[in-house]
Order: sequence, then C-alpha cells, then structure tokens
Amino acid sequence: MTTDLTHARDLDIKDPLAPMRARFHLPEKLIYLDGNSLGPLPIATVARQKDMVARQWGEGLIRSWNDADWIDAPARIGRKIARLIGAKPHEVLVTDSVSVNIFKLVVASAQLSPKRPQILSEAGNFHTDLHIASGAAEVMPNLRLDVLERADLLDAFGPETNTALLTHVHYKTAERFDMAAVTARATDAGARIVWDLSHSVGAVPLHLNQAGAELAVGCGYKYLNGGPGAPAFLYVAEHLQERLVSPLRGWFGHARPFAFEDSYEPAPGIARWQAGTPPMLSMDALESGVESFDGIDMDSVWAKSVTLFDLFHRLVAKYCPALTCVSPLEPAARGSHISFRFDHAFELCQALIDRGVIGDFRAPDIIRFGLTPLYLSHEDIVRAVVAMAKILDSELWHDPRFSQRGRVT
Ligand SMILES: *Cc1c(COP(=O)(O)O)cnc(C)c1O
Repeated sequence: MTTDLTHARDLDIKDPLAPMRARFHLPEKLIYLDGNSLGPLPIATVARQKDMVARQWGEGLIRSWNDADWIDAPARIGRKIARLIGAKPHEVLVTDSVSVNIFKLVVASAQLSPKRPQILSEAGNFHTDLHIASGAAEVMPNLRLDVLERADLLDAFGPETNTALLTHVHYKTAERFDMAAVTARATDAGARIVWDLSHSVGAVPLHLNQAGAELAVGCGYKYLNGGPGAPAFLYVAEHLQERLVSPLRGWFGHARPFAFEDSYEPAPGIARWQAGTPPMLSMDALESGVESFDGIDMDSVWAKSVTLFDLFHRLVAKYCPALTCVSPLEPAARGSHISFRFDHAFELCQALIDRGVIGDFRAPDIIRFGLTPLYLSHEDIVRAVVAMAKILDSELWHDPRFSQRGRVT
C-alpha cells in the first residue's frame, strides 16, 4: 500500500493535467468515480448561472435572446464541442436529449434510402438506443430493426441495410468500436451509421471527419460536465446537411422562424435540427461544462486515462481478486471507464459509497468506475481500490442496509 501510494504520488507530480482539478467543485473527502454518469460542477458554472438568472433573465428578460445572444447558443456551443470530436464547427448543434436526437437522425437517415428495410443495432446496447430505434422502425413504412451480437454486426451490413445505430464506447464494458473501420464497412455496403458518442465525448480522442463518420449524437451531462439533464448534441457531416430533414419540424429549425409561416422550410445547414425553444439555463451550464476543456487537448486527456486505468486494473488484480475485469486491456479497444463483474456488485457499490467512494452499479452484476482525467489523481485510485479491498476482505457488503435499492441505481 505504501509503495503503491508513493508510486501514485510520483505519477501525480508529473501529471500535466493535475492543475485542472481546481476547475471543479468536488466535495471534500469524496472520491468521485462516476463522472461518466453525471459530471461534477465546474466552479465557473456557479457565477455564470447566477448571472444567467439574475441579470440575463431577471433584468434582460426577453431582450436577452438578442442582447445576450441566447439565440446563437445551440450553434455556438456546438462549435466548441466540434473541436473535441474532430468535426467542422458548423457540423455540430446542441439541442434536445440524446434519445430525441437518435430518433431524429435515424428517421431522417432511413428516409434517404426508402428501399432499404434494415435498421441495425447491437444486443446489449444502452437500452434507450434500442427503444428509440424500435419506435423509429415502427413509425416508418417497411422498416425493421435487427438487433445482433457484436461479433455478427460487421458481417450483417449488406444491400438491405439502411442505417446502423451503434454506441462507440459501450456503457457497461467500455468496449470501443474502431470508428473508421466500421464506417468503411457501412459505406462499402451503401449504409449509414448513427454513432452514439455518449461515453466517448470528453473522454477519448475522436476524429469524426477523419473516420468518415456521417451522423452522431452525444451527451452533455457525462464527461462534458454540463449538469443534470444537460442538453445533448448532434453531428451531421457537411455533405449530408442539405439532404436530410428532421422529422420533428419545429419552428426553431425553420429557415425563418420569426416570419410565422404556415408551411415548413428547413433552415440551411445544421440549424434545421432544432425543434423548439432551447432551455437557456441548461444551455448556459453546458457551455460552462464544455469550457472546462478550454486549452486542453484530448490526447493529453486520453494519455492520463490510460495511466489511471492501468493503475486501477493492476491494484484490483492485487487486492481484490474476487472481481473480474470485463473492460478491454488494450487502450485503443476501450473508453475511459473500468468495469468488473461481481455477484454482489450492487451491495459492494453501496458499501463503497458509504465510505466516500462513488462508482456505480449496472444490472445485473457490474460495478463500474469512471476515470475522468480532469479531476482525478492517481492517489484517488489507490485510495478507492484500498477501500474496496477492505470491504471485500471484511465482507462488509453483507450489511443489510447495503442491499436497499432506490429508484435510481
Ligand atoms: C447516457 C446515455 C444516453 C442518455 O440518453 P438521454 O436521452 O440523455 O437520457 C443515451 N445513450 C447512451 C449510450 C448513453 O450512455
């Protein structure tokens, strides 16, 4: 333990991202390994929200749509996210939730190839993705959803395939698709992919343009630290922008929203993907969350994720042999969390939270830890694993109070 701590502190001294922790409010004595589910509060967000409420809303009232440039927020924040995902500034828009954006993009993409009946997705994908895809397939004539195991997916792309909905980094195991290779496979078959970047953006280096990606969605409240229920974003590659139209034709996506016309004409470019009025308080918190990446390049974030993962994995193998790692050990094959299988994962997770280490449980038997390089240290990892080892060695998780489940697990 002492040598592990010394080693970790040594890594922390050399860590170029260590000063970034000061950008976040983190409760004292808490080790937060759940930033892949809900990112922490950026300190800058507190003053910004106050200004947003008291001055921009309170004093500015409706004038703020122009005076505080609320109206440009969806595109402006999109431009900032574009840098993090390797997209052009005008290819990204902040709007709606991940679920809603999946619906919009899957339906619009499917409409582009009406003779192709197959929507593809992966068994065990995040459930909202499968639910939304099944609903999209049902409202479209002649469309069906095929859900396949990962091992069978690549071979399934064929002349019937219309659109595949794939999650780039798996929410449970952290397995990562090779975006360029899978996109090439889809393109060869004449199909398109909607990539879900919920567990990728702000965590792994992304090069959407370079990979040939055409459509994507991503989450604002996980690694982007945009706050609970933050709006999501979507990406539409430039060459598709004038060919796709959102099935949710709200006035904010109209070419002239303030002309109040009866007939719909989509706005040029990415703006057509807005449906209704953006939630400005949440937009502002998201903008602040995205700005917590200002001046930071994603390669350095990823380099630290790798050392955090390696340390976590090595210490668990040494001190917690009852846990089985289900995340890929090869860095290029995974995202930025580490997951373990354990029959009593729920109870273990609760016992850890009781000791000030927050990870999360994913049914039925996975305990998952988010490795977020902006505010975690290597020392945090040692302390978390040692706490977990103590709980396992003493079988503290048996305590009945750790088996009570809330509505959110
Ligand atoms: C977190 C997550 C979502 C969230 O969807 P919401 O509409 O924001 O609730 C969707 N898909 C994946 C893969 C996720 O990890």
